[in-house]
Amino acid sequence: MVDLDVVVVGAGFSGIYAVHAFRSAGLTVKAFEAGDGIGGTWFWNSYPGARCDVESKDYSYAFSPELEQEWSWSERYPAQPEILRYLSHVAGKFGLWPHIQLNTRVTGASWDAATASWAVTTSDGATVTARYFVSAAGCLSEFQVPDLPGLDSFEGPWYHTARWPKDGVDFAGKRVGLVGTGSTGIQVAPEIAAVADHLYVFQRTANFAVPNRNRPWEEAEERAFKSRYREYRAEARESFLGVPITGTGRPVLSEPPDDVQRLFTERWRAGGGMPFLGAYTDVLVSQEANDVVAEFMRDRIRETVDDPAVAELLCPRGYPVGSKRLCQSDDYYAMFNRPNVSLVDIRSTPVESVYPGGVKTSADSYELDSLVFATGFDALTGALFAMDIRGAGGVPLRSAWAAGAQAYLGVAAAGFPNMFIITGPGSPSVFSNMVLSIEQHVEWVRDCVVWLRSRGHATIEATAAAQAEWMEHVSEVANSTLFPRADSWYVGANIPGKPRVFTSYLAGCGPYRARCDAVAAAGYEGFALGGP
Ligand SMILES: Cc1cc2nc3c(=O)[nH]c(=O)nc-3n(C[C@H](O)[C@H](O)[C@H](O)COP(=O)(O)OP(=O)(O)OC[C@H]3O[C@@H](n4cnc5c(N)ncnc54)[C@H](O)[C@@H]3O)c2cc1C
Repeated sequence: MVDLDVVVVGAGFSGIYAVHAFRSAGLTVKAFEAGDGIGGTWFWNSYPGARCDVESKDYSYAFSPELEQEWSWSERYPAQPEILRYLSHVAGKFGLWPHIQLNTRVTGASWDAATASWAVTTSDGATVTARYFVSAAGCLSEFQVPDLPGLDSFEGPWYHTARWPKDGVDFAGKRVGLVGTGSTGIQVAPEIAAVADHLYVFQRTANFAVPNRNRPWEEAEERAFKSRYREYRAEARESFLGVPITGTGRPVLSEPPDDVQRLFTERWRAGGGMPFLGAYTDVLVSQEANDVVAEFMRDRIRETVDDPAVAELLCPRGYPVGSKRLCQSDDYYAMFNRPNVSLVDIRSTPVESVYPGGVKTSADSYELDSLVFATGFDALTGALFAMDIRGAGGVPLRSAWAAGAQAYLGVAAAGFPNMFIITGPGSPSVFSNMVLSIEQHVEWVRDCVVWLRSRGHATIEATAAAQAEWMEHVSEVANSTLFPRADSWYVGANIPGKPRVFTSYLAGCGPYRARCDAVAAAGYEGFALGGP
């Protein structure tokens, strides 16, 4: 006797919607969440300045027109507390709380061929069995602290932005060191600088940031927008990034340079990363075109930052703009004009150690009261590998993916029957508006399970051949772009020893959805189906 139809790992955007979708299809489901609240990313990353850089009208569920109409976002880009309130509202509205068990980590899951089910073990010592095992454990949930010699000896407190204390941190009068200048570092830095005695930003890699131009979402604007929400969502589903944006449809290199500067200036003033990079067709495929954008952005840094030497250090070089996650901020660069902020170049003078009173680089020592790490995540595979997942024949997922993550359509792995990964490696996931990609995956998996039941199939498993072909296609598409050229978390470069594989699908959300739908329509082509 199997306990449940579906076990879901995690209760972020993916897990919450998975519980609702499976329940609505008449399936029994339970989600286990390690945290003591739901929300995933937006539960854990409660550092000051945490904000989504996809607009709220896009970064929200599309599955319920009623929800869409009744919920009001206060700002163009929602801040972390508001997204968390939204997710609580969703869980309450759709009666999901009883099906989510908090404070419970899934420690392992093993496939049992005899019963065609998964045995899922949890941190409370329990085991539950389920027909289907669905990981909604998050692409960016397993956080990373750099291995700095002497960190243990540091006398002050240190924090990682992905485990921010719920009561907040008071930096008033403190000398703070910030390590990490990606999307999160760029968000948290101005907030710390506003209160700290001094902020030292330890920069290894300068990053490109586009302004947000965040502002309140006016009532009239919201009303007008909501009257055509359905049409808008339909456009989003067919779009490249999961957000409808209007580009010129032409390459930068075919345009008169003055027109290019004018359009980039317009988009810079309007704010937002997606419309900016999406202005022309060749920015992410031609180095020459990319150089034009990169120089435009470096000029904006130079005109914002007063000290020319600091400005030059902040100018990103050595990788194409967009090939590392494009950051968004209205105040990061200008923050360096404050007298209480220093930029420390740890590319040319690396951190050697942490000592009880601060940080020592190869050039100097910095006396610090607190340290903040905004050093990101073991992306895509980290949360999966943190569980002991064993598929057919007891093979661990870690071994199956030793040379790099492999999943057919980015949703199911060969050797792991009846297991699905929401926004897994090989899907658009982190290259898209993730809420849209999450909904697409959850709905596809739900429809698949319903179909299997209606046909009396007990098992489904991606074939090794379909998976290999898909991953080859994924890397072929990636290799036709500039993305693989950067040492980014997209390729696992931030994790020592991780195989360098580009595992996101870059052909666009619309075409990807079409492919997934075609696979389903063909009776789940590329999957082996088992009998009752
Ligand atoms: C700071 C930050 C900003 C971001 N900004 C954007 C943005 O602007 N636009 C965008 O599209 N995306 C953004 N993202 C990506 C974001 O992660 C996704 O948009 C989305 O929130 C992912 O939802 P999820 O439910 O798939 O995963 P998560 O939100 O990561 O949730 C996964 C949950 O699973 C739980 N979990 C993991 N392992 C286990 C286990 N073994 N047992 C039990 N529970 C487990 C975790 O505790 C977590 O709560 C951002 C991510 C971060 C970190």
